[in-house]
Amino acid sequence: MTTVITLRSDADAKAVQAALQGLGVWAKPLRAADGRTTALGLDRCSRRVAPAELRALSGVEAVLGADSPHPRLDAAAGRAVRVGEGADAVLVGGGASAVLAAGPCAAEDEEQVHAAARMAAEAGARLLRGGAWKPRTSPYSFSGHGGPALRWLREAADAHGLHLVTEVLAERDVDGVAEAAEVLQIGSRNMQNFALLHAAGRTGRPVLLKRGRAATLDEWRLAAEHLLDAGAGGVILCERGVRGPDPETRNLLDLAAVALLVHVDGLPVLVDPSHAVGRRDLVAPLARAALAAGASGLLVEAHPDATRARSDGPQALSPSELRRIGAMTTAEVTP
Ligand code: PEP
Ligand code: MN
Repeated sequence: MTTVITLRSDADAKAVQAALQGLGVWAKPLRAADGRTTALGLDRCSRRVAPAELRALSGVEAVLGADSPHPRLDAAAGRAVRVGEGADAVLVGGGASAVLAAGPCAAEDEEQVHAAARMAAEAGARLLRGGAWKPRTSPYSFSGHGGPALRWLREAADAHGLHLVTEVLAERDVDGVAEAAEVLQIGSRNMQNFALLHAAGRTGRPVLLKRGRAATLDEWRLAAEHLLDAGAGGVILCERGVRGPDPETRNLLDLAAVALLVHVDGLPVLVDPSHAVGRRDLVAPLARAALAAGASGLLVEAHPDATRARSDGPQALSPSELRRIGAMTTAEVTP
């Protein structure tokens, strides 16, 4: 819907237009039958500004058509999501420096999880990632160790001063995951599993919401709205590629979506180049591109012995490859 600003009868339309321009908002005059400019139509390809800020401009009578289907997400614009408590808290988005979440695709055994956490910490990651429950296309593939793996992940995160982000696949596991992890991950395949979103949101934890494999941005935003409406302590969006025309590079990493959600919507967005491209040799260039597009950080897969990985081995980074990714997040990247 186009947003229209109606002007007071004594308003100077050009002055209002100039004030809007100062806010980064482009507008074109809408004229009444007598030729007078009585309203301004806002160009959607410009900065998004809260209706209250528009209403406060001198000469503005009313702001029409600015109702949003996701008011809670809009209210989160420009704000960082806080992960963890106190001095150890990590901020994601809201202008904070880029963060790295790293770890294996799946938690395979206690030793692997500890080695992966060490790798992640040494590379400068602030969050450990890894799945206790894995969504697998085939019912015969390794689908995770469940509860015990959750415990290994928590202990490894604590041992290395990391926060934990891990996927929850089923409503029955939500409370256990919320107890063990600072951030609940909702995977791509569950982006519109509304019952799971509500259960995850009700825990009050921040949620990392991966984009569905064919989800539009509005479907993604509204899934985030479900989480916030249910009480989530913030939503971190995660772009992990959508299904594209060619499987050779696994998925199509939508960096335009990242730029839009970060720069226009003002939301925290992590980019997962690992699931996007599916091969370790291309993770670094995509990670660099993601940061240049404005990503709030990266979520990448790494394994202490990738040749033995039980899932997503071809995209798992070695310790030295992961350190190079970590160096990117600490370098100054001016989007
Ligand atoms: C994952 O991050 O482990 C994962 C399964 O990712 P996605 O939901 O993006 O496929
Ligand atoms: Mn994986």
